[in-house]
Amino acid sequence: MALIPFDDRDGWIWFDGRIVPWRDAKLHVLTHGLHYASAVFEGERAYNGHVFKLEEHTNRLFESGRLLGFEIPYTPDQINEACRAVLAKNGQTDAYVRPIAWRGSEMLAVAAQQTTIHVAIATWPWPNLFGNDRMKGVTLAHAKWRRPAPDTAPTASKAAGLYMIGTLSKHAAEAEGFNDALMLDWKGDVAEATGANAFFVFDGEVHTPTPVCFLDGITRRTVMALARNRQMKVVERTIKPDELPRATEVFLAGTAAEVTPVRQIADMHYTPGQITETLINDYSALVQMTPEEVARRAA
Ligand code: PMP
Repeated sequence: MALIPFDDRDGWIWFDGRIVPWRDAKLHVLTHGLHYASAVFEGERAYNGHVFKLEEHTNRLFESGRLLGFEIPYTPDQINEACRAVLAKNGQTDAYVRPIAWRGSEMLAVAAQQTTIHVAIATWPWPNLFGNDRMKGVTLAHAKWRRPAPDTAPTASKAAGLYMIGTLSKHAAEAEGFNDALMLDWKGDVAEATGANAFFVFDGEVHTPTPVCFLDGITRRTVMALARNRQMKVVERTIKPDELPRATEVFLAGTAAEVTPVRQIADMHYTPGQITETLINDYSALVQMTPEEVARRAA
């Protein structure tokens, strides 16, 4: 499939309070967000006409902005409504939703106190990577870049700047023929993949690293609830890399990745199994439900 550049598409984008034609959603090259990564964003998915966990994503967007020292100049309700409006305008019921907030052009140096905060929301089709081949699984290389300590960067924010490490790691993994990278944290403990949280099955229990220096993903929390609903034991703890050979199943969880089995980490091979399959099916069923049904299931 030919790659269509994102600036060469048609549709509609919500941009600072108005829905504008896709091709008109432009900004100046001297924008603080571009030069100094003073930007935060979200990644959401709409299923069946509803953005899954929209309020949680919007709240995280605002919190990410605060962690970077700025307040988004709208209310969360306005942003929720804008997400729905742009999906409707684009005629999409199933799509990826990308809100982003960034500092504008009033100042272009490290200090940026007087910059205006801008917000845009775009939506586009992004089907599950595997379709009917969901149990096939992905391969992960070890990343040489690590997640920074929480006092080195605002690691709880979905801040654009933090993705520099992700892109470097993902590119290196792809160059070695892997799909993605498994990153360690600054202490050398297992952290996450470049755009999704990681889960490991040990002795039939679902284990996942404690999110002290990376996103406590909305999908991660959902999957933990789904596993508990199935009476599985879920354990958040420090996971050392030398434990990885002992895992019997490995999977990733994230909005874009959904629940994706891992079949290889470096030279270790895994067979996606029953626990992964159950959680893939439970997650796929949950995201199709209305927000009210999702809330009722407490997941
Ligand atoms: N970690 C990183 C680095 C991510 O980019 C994402 C995707 N937002 C996640 C974890 C998973 O977060 P969520 O489940 O909220 O999408």
